[in-house]
Amino acid sequence: MADSSNREVKKNNRIRTLRAVLAGGRISQPALAAELGHSGPTVLSNIRELIQLGLVEEIGVFDSTGGRRAKAFGPVADARLSIGLEITKSHIGLVAVDLAGSLVAYRRQEMAFSMSDAYFQQLAQRLEQFIQNEKLAPQRLLGVGISLPGIVDERERLLTDSHVLQLKDVSTDCFSRCLPYSCRFINDANAAGLAEVYQQEELKNLVYLSLSDSVGGAILIDGRLYAGDHRRAGELGHNTLVPNGRPCYCGKLGCLDSYCNAQILSGMTGGSLERFFEGVEERRPALLAAWNEYLENLAVAVNNLRMTFDCNVMAGGYVGSYLEEYGGDFSERLARRNPFEQDTSYFKFCRHRLGASALGAALLLVEDFIRGL
Ligand SMILES: [Zn+2]
Repeated sequence: MADSSNREVKKNNRIRTLRAVLAGGRISQPALAAELGHSGPTVLSNIRELIQLGLVEEIGVFDSTGGRRAKAFGPVADARLSIGLEITKSHIGLVAVDLAGSLVAYRRQEMAFSMSDAYFQQLAQRLEQFIQNEKLAPQRLLGVGISLPGIVDERERLLTDSHVLQLKDVSTDCFSRCLPYSCRFINDANAAGLAEVYQQEELKNLVYLSLSDSVGGAILIDGRLYAGDHRRAGELGHNTLVPNGRPCYCGKLGCLDSYCNAQILSGMTGGSLERFFEGVEERRPALLAAWNEYLENLAVAVNNLRMTFDCNVMAGGYVGSYLEEYGGDFSERLARRNPFEQDTSYFKFCRHRLGASALGAALLLVEDFIRGL
């Protein structure tokens, strides 16, 4: 028992050392000792092991301020790479990330989903092309994290419900059967939320609202996803915003989705969100009115989340990426609704504008690898 707990402590120390080197980029033994609260010899022994594993390397020395110059250590960040694959109704997104969680490559391609062998075979071909084009060494690949627009069960075996792909209770093996890699699966909004909080200490508690062609969300508590009793936590699109309001694709009336999905806006400019916001900048009256109404509805939703969770709230997805430009206006709308605080800095703009879901899916395998060290 003592031995196994000792091994556990050693393992945790090694993992913390690796995380500190990955985050620091270039760091000395004394700096690591101070940051981790480890003794000098403990740091050194962990660093030696990580060097042997090919995950850390010596990258020179720091300038001396008197006395011996300290060696600088850095990560061999691309010692392992993870791929993220985002499947949507009409596109796929592909990313590669290194162990530091940094984006190495990103591609988005049109590819209409169909539940067919041809689709899954083409998916495998596109993945191989991506690996070759980006010169990703196959022996370094940890696997593929796959983000799906629907509810994924707790053991990642079933896609239980996807309105977007028109699927119910489909085995996730379907998506990975042509891919010769170890695969993990995650809901798209959960993946995007996870990507946003990854290594962001101040964002440990976050409600993430995804404003794309449908509205989704993720609830992260202490950096971890809260799934709920039926894996449906964060289905924020189906919170009722207006009793008996507009019809939602789910069959109910007045859901947030019917007021805050991106198509409400892009539908006014031939499907292009970019053109919609150009029109808002040109102060075209119909578009301005629609944008004002959208912001007001979004403010209600965000304020409700703040009242419920008392933590940071972030908007991402297609519309989230444009929101920062209108941050002042939106902040005023939030402040007006809040009985406790005028400070709206709890509301965050997303960091990842493109490929957030693919990135979050890829990080699942990075985390598996680091925790398994
Ligand atoms: Zn609905």
